[in-house]
Amino acid sequence: MARDVRQFSDAEIERLVKFYEQAEREILDRINRALLRANKTEYLVQMKRNIEAILQQLREGNRTWCTDSIPRVYSEGLKNADAMLKDAGFSVSAGFGAIHQQAVQVLAENTFQRLQDVTQVIGRQAEGIYRDLALENVRGAVAGYETWKQAAKRYRQQLAEHGVTGFKDKAGRNWNMRSYTEMVARTTTMEAHLQGTANRLVEQGHDLVKVSTHRGACEKCAPWQGKILSITGKTPGYPTLEEAKAAGLFHPRCRHAYGLHIDLDKEIEELEAELDMQLETDENYTNKQEYGTIKIPIDKILEEAAKNEPQITQDMQRIVTQNGGRLEGLEFRLKSRSSLEEKATTMVAGGVDEENVLSGIYDVVRYTDIIDKQNFTSHYFSVIDSLKRNGYKVKRVKNTWTNKRSAYKGVNVVLEAPNGQMFELQFHTPESFDVKQNKMHKLYEEHRKNTTSENRKLELENEMFEISKALEMPAGIERIKNIDLLRGD
Ligand SMILES: [Zn+2]
Repeated sequence: MARDVRQFSDAEIERLVKFYEQAEREILDRINRALLRANKTEYLVQMKRNIEAILQQLREGNRTWCTDSIPRVYSEGLKNADAMLKDAGFSVSAGFGAIHQQAVQVLAENTFQRLQDVTQVIGRQAEGIYRDLALENVRGAVAGYETWKQAAKRYRQQLAEHGVTGFKDKAGRNWNMRSYTEMVARTTTMEAHLQGTANRLVEQGHDLVKVSTHRGACEKCAPWQGKILSITGKTPGYPTLEEAKAAGLFHPRCRHAYGLHIDLDKEIEELEAELDMQLETDENYTNKQEYGTIKIPIDKILEEAAKNEPQITQDMQRIVTQNGGRLEGLEFRLKSRSSLEEKATTMVAGGVDEENVLSGIYDVVRYTDIIDKQNFTSHYFSVIDSLKRNGYKVKRVKNTWTNKRSAYKGVNVVLEAPNGQMFELQFHTPESFDVKQNKMHKLYEEHRKNTTSENRKLELENEMFEISKALEMPAGIERIKNIDLLRGD
């Protein structure tokens, strides 16, 4: 959590606490006045009425605070997530949709209930004081003014020491109004902020977050530092955010936060997908033995692709060339049978259902468009526009140039042709293409070998990042935003 976010929540919490402090002062003032005005019943009744009015103000204030502050803090949570996503190269165009409005409503209602509980406790305490005093008043009427003065003095002392609102909770902890209100405000604002962040990340298709680390972490949080958590519980193999919270992480005043986690292994897998054009010519690597067990209609997919491809290739050649680009490696535009089998096998091994494997492969037909870095961005938009005018639909855009965590640099677009064929179009600068085909490929080959040690793998990953860092970014590349209409397919 960034410092300004904490300061922001602190300001909201302070506002509520001040409001309660003022209410407490006013209640004390009313009681003291009643105590000083001697033992007249009408003063006590007046006191009771005044206190009720103050409590009514508190209830209204609770409502206002919940409907103001909770959405504000939640929105800060959204902004926090947007900053994480932006940092990772994703564009965020999502606003404050129905999911968020609903979440905020639930959070605000929840907080309101907890604050109403606080107000109720205060009300009960004030009621108790009134009853005690009324009783003294009756006694005083019998025993005389001196007795009343003594009782009043005793009460004033007691109130000065403990305030009107000291109470014990179910767990036996002592609270006063300030500490209790602050605790409720702190817990609920933290919850609103965490939920805003989590909901946005999930909405944008991200489930994994990593818990921050700091020195001197408390006992409850320490085991969670640096851990990767699943927000929804849908990613197998990770503890959930809820489990971590239930175990004490993100307690009130907790200084821990979480950041978007992008799985490096997954990045490497994606790099593998990008490199498979090269790999298929590599005879040393094959998974064919394992393929025997998978029953998928590979022939049908390849036949279909071979039938649809000529029209797409014709359009691609025309459109790319007209806009100053050049198609590279056109002879590899159809994925080979062995490469498709290979990819399907890897996907099944990675947990994808066999029935869904082929519908998840979009690059059976694929093209690479090379354009220099000065013209890259404008060329990209001209080509995409031309394709759209020719009936092509953009299904996914992945711009990894802006993703600091991706070693692979390129813009990969999945399109649907008018004939229904899905295919991939990659945009590269001559330099990024060279890195992908040559430098990265060698490192990657070593990385994927089972015999490569974990330490060596880390070295190789670092090397891949060093190489990609040395690439010059195409001008205006940040204008190419990620799009994903395939998620959930
Ligand atoms: Zn903590």
